[in-house]
Amino acid sequence: MVPEIKKHEVEISLKTNSRSLPERNVEYLRDEIRKLAKEKNAVILTHIYQRLEVQDIADHVGDSLALSRYAAKTEADIIVFCGVHFMAETAKLLNPEKTVLLPDLQSGCPMADMISVEDLRAFKNENPGSPVVCYVNSSAAVKAESDICCTSTNAVQVVNSFNEKEIIFAPDKGLGVWVQEQLPHKKLHIYDGFCPTHYQITPKEVFIMREKYPDAIVVAHPECDPEVWRLADFVGSTSQIYKFVLGHEKNQFIILSEQGLVARMQRDMHPKAIVTTFPLPLCPNMKYHKLESVIEALRENKNEIKVDKKIFDKARKTITRMFEVTEGAISEINGMNNKNFWEGPKTIASDSSLVGCGR
Ligand code: SF4
Repeated sequence: MVPEIKKHEVEISLKTNSRSLPERNVEYLRDEIRKLAKEKNAVILTHIYQRLEVQDIADHVGDSLALSRYAAKTEADIIVFCGVHFMAETAKLLNPEKTVLLPDLQSGCPMADMISVEDLRAFKNENPGSPVVCYVNSSAAVKAESDICCTSTNAVQVVNSFNEKEIIFAPDKGLGVWVQEQLPHKKLHIYDGFCPTHYQITPKEVFIMREKYPDAIVVAHPECDPEVWRLADFVGSTSQIYKFVLGHEKNQFIILSEQGLVARMQRDMHPKAIVTTFPLPLCPNMKYHKLESVIEALRENKNEIKVDKKIFDKARKTITRMFEVTEGAISEINGMNNKNFWEGPKTIASDSSLVGCGR
């Protein structure tokens, strides 16, 4: 008999994600955000790890790559970025003339903070002559010191685009080892950075879940510890995980990735039973933005993200080069004509039937 995934386990991260105080008038806050966004010609880009209520006021929801592409093509004057700092910086690098706002400046990325320009220079000195591929989860200054950027969706393709055998990969060692295993003819020098949220998941928890749900498909993000993603049936980036589970014929999945993604998939893919490990792999940095902080940012143009002029062009080049290598020229990105592009889940801006908040 197929063991059922218990209802409370399916719902637990939904509850965590959508908890709202009784006195908050969420509908009013949503309407206010959409009104302000229209008045100010602003686009709201929200990472899929964000609280569901923040996903629900977005024009576009997606992962780093999808949001970079939306940022590259937007015609809005203002970009409100509900993600972490490096993502807002990336949006600014792609849109020098536009105002980019990060509603809560506490939203940083501990992995990105694990490498400074000095750290990268020292690592380059240890491995002279090797080109540098930096994960998008890095500061603009580190990008400026690198040859090309990548996301978890295109990391293998980017590394493989070099003729050189030896490549420096920074800062994520989980993803770095994943890329190395896909490209055995390359030799990667991998920096010792990691995602504290994905590294929270241990092999022990995966074994426990496997035992509990022997028929479930185990799906992992490559930011997990390699000892963890090696236990998975499928390893992929956020967009690849979302698409894999959505299109799969099976109905039980154990997701080894951040809780916001799990909550979104539970909601979008009901009645598929989608669970994750315990304790919940939750990135606190992704949960700072709230409807109230988005309103404040929009009203006052608060928390504008700027990038030092001295490094701007070099950091931008690192990102546009990624697009050139993986998808063609930046003008094509503006046309969004890449067949493999993940548009992200539907949002209220694209489908007003999703929640009771019209534009
Ligand atoms: S989930 Fe990990 S990589 Fe993503 S923002 Fe949080 S700490 Fe950084």
